[in-house]
Amino acid sequence: MKRVIASLLIPVFLLLPGCGVQEAQEQFFSMDTVMSITVYGKGAAEAAAAARQEVEMLNDQLSRTDENSLISQLNAHAGDGTAVPMDADTLELLSFSKSVAQLLPGDFDITIAPVMDAWGFTGEDRHVPDDDTLAAAMALVDSNKLLIDETAGTAQLSEAGMAVDLGAVAKGYAAAKAEAVLREQGVTSALLDLGRNITAVGPKTNGDPWRVGVADPEDDSQYLCILSLEDQTASTSGGYERWFEENGVRYHHIIDPKTGYPADSGLLSVTVISSNHLLADALSTSLFVAGPEEALEFWKSRDDFELVLCTDQKQLIVTEGLEAGFEFRGEELGYDYQIARR
Ligand code: AMP
Ligand code: MG
Repeated sequence: MKRVIASLLIPVFLLLPGCGVQEAQEQFFSMDTVMSITVYGKGAAEAAAAARQEVEMLNDQLSRTDENSLISQLNAHAGDGTAVPMDADTLELLSFSKSVAQLLPGDFDITIAPVMDAWGFTGEDRHVPDDDTLAAAMALVDSNKLLIDETAGTAQLSEAGMAVDLGAVAKGYAAAKAEAVLREQGVTSALLDLGRNITAVGPKTNGDPWRVGVADPEDDSQYLCILSLEDQTASTSGGYERWFEENGVRYHHIIDPKTGYPADSGLLSVTVISSNHLLADALSTSLFVAGPEEALEFWKSRDDFELVLCTDQKQLIVTEGLEAGFEFRGEELGYDYQIARR
């Protein structure tokens, strides 16, 4: 069984932009999901098209299934001693991903690809792997063996069979790059929906913040809460996004690198809000694996993101930085909420 939900973070257009403001939207399929880029103001159509082009270019560069991509070239040379030339952007993304693996060891690792393959998440044949297959795949997961040479501009996987999968960070990276393209074109108000990654560029044209709903993981037509965003990304990760069922058990696509099995940390979803779009995407995946206690501990140690944690006990835990624009909508869905404070 397969269920793919286009977007679980839903932009809520509570106020339409003022009369006379140009608006343009690009809707397209990229990075395995439905995306939309909505731009307001002068030159909106050209800017939206340029931002879309940037996202599609990054998809070609970062995809692991497109054999011409830079990442496929890196993976193809695993273990053969070749340092593969990367462009500056891809190298930066690989370095960043390695640094997240060091920050949250055991929760996040982009060399998880062989394990994704063992579960069949890369293609259509999804199944529980046998113990030997899983153990062999797990032995290849170690981003310390992803060697990056910033000076030479190369990356290398030091063991045969290793592979990189940027599924956890590609959309956040694309959001950052698309925003830069929009800014270059003079855009000051836009909303990017890159599939569970909603990026607000500036405020709405009337100066108010954007309002974005966090969906109920069990029913994406319902909101658990609404958040205010301005120059920020809200990125959601959840086990309900992509999954299959075998012998009555559900298995999803976010893997705990400690076990090789889908993460089972007591969370149904994690939404990370940050002005660093890439960080939001990386942390939503990592903190979903980490679970509520470790996620809140990590949040307390930093000041560059906020969280909405949705637990399997129907609790919404919302960090204090979101309190101002927060609107709870989960009561009728059987949810409670609490504000987490430092
Ligand atoms: P996201 O939707 O951003 O949470 O990313 C989920 C995707 O990240 C999966 O489809 C895999 O491609 C990849 N992935 C799964 N588990 C991990 C993990 N523990 N660390 C890094 N990437 C992962
Ligand atoms: Mg992510």
